[in-house]
Parts: sequence; C-alpha cells; structure tokens
Amino acid sequence: MYDSPRRRAAPPVAARRSHVRHQRHRLARMTAPIPADEAQICSARGCRAPAAWALRWNNPRLHDPARRKTWLACPAHRASLGDFLDARSFLREVAPLPGSHTLGS
Ligand SMILES: [Zn+2]
Repeated sequence: MYDSPRRRAAPPVAARRSHVRHQRHRLARMTAPIPADEAQICSARGCRAPAAWALRWNNPRLHDPARRKTWLACPAHRASLGDFLDARSFLREVAPLPGSHTLGS
C-alpha cells in the first residue's frame, strides 16, 4: 500500500507545525490558558487566535471534486480567509466549529 506523496501549493496560511513552534517561545508569556494540543488555532498566517469557524474548500485543479480541505478561522479572519477562497471559487462551506467553547466563563 502506498500513500501518495502530498504535494501542496503553499496557501496563505500558517499550517506548518514547526513554524508555529518556532514562534512559540516568544509568545509563551502572553498566551496563557489554551492547551496547545486541543485548541484549534486560526489558520491565518501569523494568527494564533482560537478558531471559531471551519472553511471548507476545494480547488478543482488540485483536488478531487468530492474532496474538502479545511481552514480554521477565528472571528477576525473568517472574512479574509473566506474572501480569499471565495474569490477563487474554492469556498464550499463555512461551518461553526463545534469545539469552539470559551473556557471558564
Ligand atoms: Zn485569525
């Protein structure tokens, strides 16, 4: 069984875990209570806010028509990421993230 290698065009999001890790120590003092393994973080480049929305999209030139890619977006980036995808006719669906509860209120 083979897993086909993933080739991705670079999207305008910061999806690489190593990149996030690289920035993390700088922000450790500012960002407090979100458990990094559980929080779903906004996919926008440079943004570390908890995501509240899932943008589901498909690039017909790269993906099977039935396939969906997902970007996560915080409330501040839902529009800009959505516009990016929508302008390319990639956007298929915007759904609220079920796990986007606020802690401790
Ligand atoms: Zn964001």
